[in-house]
Amino acid sequence: MNIDKIVILSLKHFTLSSIIEVAIPVPLHNTFDYLCDQKVSIGARVKVPFGQKKVTAIVLSHKQKSDFEKLRPVEKVLDQKSLLSKEILDFLFWSAKYYHHPLGEVLASALPKNLREGKPADIKKTSAHKNTLSPVTFDATTEQSKAIKSVLKSENNFHGFLLHGVTGSGKTEVYLSIAQALLKKGRQILVLVPEIGLTPQMIARFEERVGAKVVAVHSQLNETQKLDAYLMAKNGEAGVVLGTRSAIFTPMPNLGLVIVDEEHDGSFKQQTSFRYSARDLSFMRAKLANIPLILGTATPSLETLKNVVDKKLKRLVLSSRPGQAIMPEVNLIDMRNQTVEALSVPLVAKMKHYLEDNKQVMLFINRRGYSPVLMCGACAWQADCPQCDTHLSYHLKPRAILQCHHCNYMQPVPKVCPACNHEELLPIGHGTARIEESLNQLFPDYPVIRVDRDTTTRQDSWQKIYQRAHRSGAAIFLGTQMLAKGHHFPYVSLVTILDIDAGLMSADFRAPERTAQLIMQVAGRAGRGQIKGEVLLQSLRPDHPLLQSLGTKGYASFSKQALAERKIGHLPPYRYCVLIRAESQNELYNVDFLQFALQHWASFGEAEVDVWVAMAI
Ligand code: ADP
Ligand code: ZN
Ligand code: ZN
Repeated sequence: MNIDKIVILSLKHFTLSSIIEVAIPVPLHNTFDYLCDQKVSIGARVKVPFGQKKVTAIVLSHKQKSDFEKLRPVEKVLDQKSLLSKEILDFLFWSAKYYHHPLGEVLASALPKNLREGKPADIKKTSAHKNTLSPVTFDATTEQSKAIKSVLKSENNFHGFLLHGVTGSGKTEVYLSIAQALLKKGRQILVLVPEIGLTPQMIARFEERVGAKVVAVHSQLNETQKLDAYLMAKNGEAGVVLGTRSAIFTPMPNLGLVIVDEEHDGSFKQQTSFRYSARDLSFMRAKLANIPLILGTATPSLETLKNVVDKKLKRLVLSSRPGQAIMPEVNLIDMRNQTVEALSVPLVAKMKHYLEDNKQVMLFINRRGYSPVLMCGACAWQADCPQCDTHLSYHLKPRAILQCHHCNYMQPVPKVCPACNHEELLPIGHGTARIEESLNQLFPDYPVIRVDRDTTTRQDSWQKIYQRAHRSGAAIFLGTQMLAKGHHFPYVSLVTILDIDAGLMSADFRAPERTAQLIMQVAGRAGRGQIKGEVLLQSLRPDHPLLQSLGTKGYASFSKQALAERKIGHLPPYRYCVLIRAESQNELYNVDFLQFALQHWASFGEAEVDVWVAMAI
């Protein structure tokens, strides 16, 4: 291949043309070269032909020559100025490299849909911010002041902090004070929250306290609103950006602080396509901007605890709740002596006791729908998802349907057993909807408020739940983990996890950690405000070491032990884990490929790589 000749040839045809290197959102690891006869900045979007299609590409560099023959010309320059600054591009390059994901796809996933589709980068509705500031009516505690001072001391340096405090210990107040101080100096604040933590309450708290524009980035915004939020962050107009995991890629020229609230939460990880952990990426984001990072939680992930041990994070503790609120008592109900499956006799008695005393009760079960399995009474046939390795959940309302909670596959409920034509199909096990039914029968005089993905789809549903939660008087809240995350339920006195065993017996090595976190989060729901609370766990394995150590010694002791086990087991955070997944119409290709991969690792010889093989056929 004679490169010089090609360049000369090209120049002949496009006398003003130069070559640009671009990233295109395709699952390929290389970049692409095009001819461009206009001035174009690095980080700008261009529309280019790709195969038969036209795609939006991002300009990465200007080149003198290309390794390819016959370069095609750019069709249109979409941005006169750079859209992605050097700072954000560097961060995206690093992310693509770290996660071994094609750059073009990484860049595309960092842009709102309208920009990906080549629409103009213009703000549609400029809205002046008019936050009505409410004055703070209390003084920071000594621990809060210390935390605020420590972070502000590093305002111009990269420094990672773990803000470790139980729910209600005043972490959000610490965020707000630091944010306020930095906003006054013209800095911007990026706050990442778990998927279901971005509530109107959280947004309102920032709006009430910071004298700057707060933009929230979440899935309920329409595309115009998402674009506006992105551009206001990019031009510095937005002082605070509050968002879920993908907000880590928001361009913010004056970024002064990154906060990851509830850092242990699983929703910071994207599990499809470009897989990343926004919590992990927050380190690099803060490092590149040379600013402080705060990870806040009551129950630090084991990764974060290891970072504290390794001195990559400084731990700041909020050890108690402001005011008199006391931590609840945790008790176990031994389900081995119980004949009922979901609501044990001692639990029902306890609920009755609290409700009659005009207190509120909260029940968790991590399964929505009516029942997790539908089974034939005669031949034991079970409804399974044709696409996944799971049972279909049985939903009764708003209409009877079988639904896969992994891939969302749905089908009508068969009238008779598809295997033997028997007419009796039985719901097995309990989901929130079935428990709700039992609760309405057991406690007809008390309101039952169910909170799961099926009952919170409407925009105002959370509003209604909050209104009820902030009114005293007996009530039963029933829900999935959604209910456990960071919300304020001041009148709840009794909290129960109905299916704690599911978390104890899972094959996932992170299951014990998640279960422990859930128990602690749930305990944080009980007895906020002035009332002492109680936590009840129903288990068939009340002697399980996890339950024992959590109950008697708390999360710190549990996590220390769990971290030691991870080390012995060669598991993260002591080792990296790589998933190689083969998927094909032809099973033999999968086997061939995986065998090839296996041999490849074997040839590494001395490098310590443990290989686990799992094949679903
Ligand atoms: P977290 O974010 O850790 O759950 P919050 O910051 O939401 O805790 O604080 C819990 C409650 O305590 C809030 O109502 C908050 O206004 C209040 N609070 C926080 N700090 C103080 C303080 N120093 N004195 C009195 N009340 C406080
Ligand atoms: Zn049957
Ligand atoms: Zn499925």
